[in-house]
Amino acid sequence: MTPKPFGVPEEQGVFPRNAGSGGRAPILDDPLAFCGGEVGRIEAAGLLRRVRTLESASEPEVILNGRRVLCLASNNYLGLAAHPEVVDAAADAARRYGAGAGSARLITGGNVLHDELEARLAAFKGTEAALLFSSGYLANLGTVSALVGPGDAVFSDELNHASIIDGCRLSRAEVHVYRHADAGDLAERLGAWRQRTGADRRALVVTDSVFSMDGDIAPLPDIVAACERHGAILMVDEAHASGVVGPGGRGAVAGFGLDGRVGVVMGTLSKALGAAGGFIAGSVDLCAYLRNRARSFIFDTALPPPTAAAALAALRIVGREPERPVRARRLAARLAAGLRASGYDVPDPAAAILPVVIGEPDAAMALSARLLDAGVLVTAIRPPSVPEGTSRLRATVMATHTDAEIDRASAAFAVARP
Ligand code: PMP
Repeated sequence: MTPKPFGVPEEQGVFPRNAGSGGRAPILDDPLAFCGGEVGRIEAAGLLRRVRTLESASEPEVILNGRRVLCLASNNYLGLAAHPEVVDAAADAARRYGAGAGSARLITGGNVLHDELEARLAAFKGTEAALLFSSGYLANLGTVSALVGPGDAVFSDELNHASIIDGCRLSRAEVHVYRHADAGDLAERLGAWRQRTGADRRALVVTDSVFSMDGDIAPLPDIVAACERHGAILMVDEAHASGVVGPGGRGAVAGFGLDGRVGVVMGTLSKALGAAGGFIAGSVDLCAYLRNRARSFIFDTALPPPTAAAALAALRIVGREPERPVRARRLAARLAAGLRASGYDVPDPAAAILPVVIGEPDAAMALSARLLDAGVLVTAIRPPSVPEGTSRLRATVMATHTDAEIDRASAAFAVARP
C-alpha cells in the first residue's frame, strides 16, 4: 500500500479540487470564497487593516521601509522591551531552559521562572498570589468565563477591551453593559439585578483601569463601593496601568489606595513590562480556583521561559527606577500640551496614551499618512476597535522618548492638521 502523506485524509483526492461548479452552489467548490468578498467590502468601507513590518525593535525610533521614523504607536511604555538587561535575561534563560515551555504547566510542570515571576507579580500588586497566562487576552478570556456562568451576571464597561467582551460571551452569563466610566449607571443596574435575582447568584463587575483607546481612568473608588454594596466580584484590567500609573507604577488599584478591595486584578507583561504574557493577581484561593477552572490556563502551553525571564528583569528595573513611570506620564502630558497649542482637542492623559479623535476612518487614515510622511508613526484606530464616528489617532509615549522627540512629534501634528 502506498503511504499517504501526513495530514491528507483518506478521502481527499477522490474529488478533483477544482472541478468547476457543474450546477453546484459556488460554496461547494470554494467554501472560503466569502473571504475575498468580505475583504473587498471591508476595504470599500475604508476599514481594511494591513500589518506593517518593522525592521527594528520597538524603540522610540523604529525602522520602517528602510526609513527611521519616530514611533508614537507602541505599548512599550517604559522602553523596556529592548533594554539590555531584559534582553540578556531572555537570552540567558533561552540558553538555560530552551526557547519554549514544552507543555501546559499542569502537564510536564512549570519552570522555576514561572514560580518566581508569580511571586514577584503578587508582591508588585500587593496580593497573596498571582497566576500566569500566556497572554493578557487569555487571562481575561479564561478568568471571566471561569468566574461566572449561566444564571450569573457580568457587568462590563462599554469601552472594555475585546478580550473582556469575548470572556463575557464565553461565560454564557447575562451580560449587562454599563455606560463608560459611569459608576452610577453600574450601581443602578447592579442593584436592580440583585433585587430581581436574590443573593445566591454571582455578579462580576469588570473594567479596564486605564482604557486602551481613550487613555482615561475608571472611577475605581465608586466602582468598588457599588460592588461592596451589592456583593459583586470586581475584576480590574490593569493592562495599560501596570508600570505606568500608581506608586512605583503598581497600577491604578494601588494608585487609588484600593489594595485588598479588588478581588481580581489582571495585568499584562506585554506592554510596560516589555515582554509578553498576562496574569491574574488575587488571593491564594482565587489562583487555585483558576488553575483548575480557567480553560485558557489549563489547556494552553506555558509562557516561554525567556519571556518569563524578560518580565522578571523588567520588574526589577521598575522597582529600581521609579522615575520611569513618572517620565512616561510627564511625556504624555507634554504631548497633550503640544497638540492643544496647535488646535487639537485632546484630553489630559491619565497614563501614556493620548487619543486624538478625528471622526471618520478616512480622515484618521489620511492624518496618520501625513504624519508618517513627516517621519512620525502614529496609528489610526477605526471601528470596530472604537465606536463609529470616533476614529482616532492613538498616540503613545515611552519613558525613553526625549523631550525633543515629543516636541518634534507635536510639530509634525501641527503641520499635518486637517
Ligand atoms: N486588556 C487590555 C485593556 C488590552 O489593551 C490588551 C491588549 N491590547 C489586553 C487586555 C490583552 O493583552 P495581551 O496583548 O497581553 O494579550
